[in-house]
Parts: sequence; structure tokens; C-alpha cells
Amino acid sequence: MNKLYFRYGAMGSSKTAQALMLKFNYEQKGHTVFLFKPVVDKRCEENGKAYVASRIGLKAECIEFSSQDDFWQLSQEYAILNVKTVSKNVIIIDECQFLTAKQVEQLKEISLYLPVLCFGLLTNYKTELFEGSKRLIELADSIAEVKSVCKCGRKATINVRLSKGLIVTQGNEIEIGGDDKYEGMCYYCYKKKLLSQQKKYNK
Ligand SMILES: [Zn+2]
Repeated sequence: MNKLYFRYGAMGSSKTAQALMLKFNYEQKGHTVFLFKPVVDKRCEENGKAYVASRIGLKAECIEFSSQDDFWQLSQEYAILNVKTVSKNVIIIDECQFLTAKQVEQLKEISLYLPVLCFGLLTNYKTELFEGSKRLIELADSIAEVKSVCKCGRKATINVRLSKGLIVTQGNEIEIGGDDKYEGMCYYCYKKKLLSQQKKYNK
């Protein structure tokens, strides 16, 4: 049976690497993988082609989508639901937190015909669920965590946004590029750093 899968993890949890390894695995078995990523992430474009790249060096060409795209239309455009090939096709989505609720609903319907595997973050730097992740929790047939560790060795659960070494707690949800960095931390370290930062700057 085909399913909608949601694999989530904190920053640095090798989600993208896992997505790319899975793509390789499917292709080895004769499947065709349609790899998608949201257009909000412009970091990885070369010669007009879009790529998904992981920090450990894996990389693959992908199809970009925007929040305006309809996955039924995209499926038609790339002949993903073609009756002759659909049984061999697979959809993998990286950075799936940026899907809209509507797109997740479309993918849920599409997952009746082929496996749809979504990899991404659960929460933003304000510790709130992303729109896409929320809908995926509601609709996915299979949900699993990709674990990663904090510097202290505990499990990282918070996606901390850092600007010049300080934790940022306000601003837009999407802030790619610039000097800001994201780091996966456990709640204990996050709280400790936040409190020492507040002591230092709010007096
Ligand atoms: Zn920690």
C-alpha cells in the first residue's frame, strides 16, 4: 500500500542526506524518483538548475515548487501519475515544512497512487509548528523522527536561530541566507543560553 510519510528532525539531523540516500536506494531498485524542494531555498542553484544538497556532500538535481504550485498540476507536468509508469514512481520532498496545508492535502490524495516521502523540520525557531508540518502530522500515514544531538549530547529538539551568536526569538518565519544561522539544540541548552543572554542584555 502506498503511503504519505513524514520524517522530521531538528537542524543538522541529516534529513536531507537520508532523503538523498533513499532516492539512491529506490533508483537502484528500478524506481523513478521525483525529488522536489521549495523555491524559498535559493542556496543551491547552479547554471539555472536546482539541487538538493546535504552537508555531508550528497547532492541531486531536483524540481522546485512554490507555495502557489498545485501538486496535481506538477504531477501532470512531469507525468508522475502516468498509468504505465506510476507503479514505479516515487515522490520525495525535502524541506517539506514549507509546503502549504493545501499542498499537503494534495499529496495525501496523490499518495493513494504512489509513495510520497516528506523530509523536514517540525517547528520554527519560535518553537511553533510550520504550516506544512502541522498538516503532515494530521495526515501522514507514517511519522518518524530523525534524531540528532545537541552539543551537550542530549537530543536536539529546538531549531535555534542565531544572529552574531545570539538567539533570535522574533522576526519572520523564513529567513534564509544572511548572517543568521540555525542550530539544533536541546531545550536545556536553549533555555540556559537564552537566560544568560537576557541577563547580559536586558539589565
Ligand atoms: Zn544540550
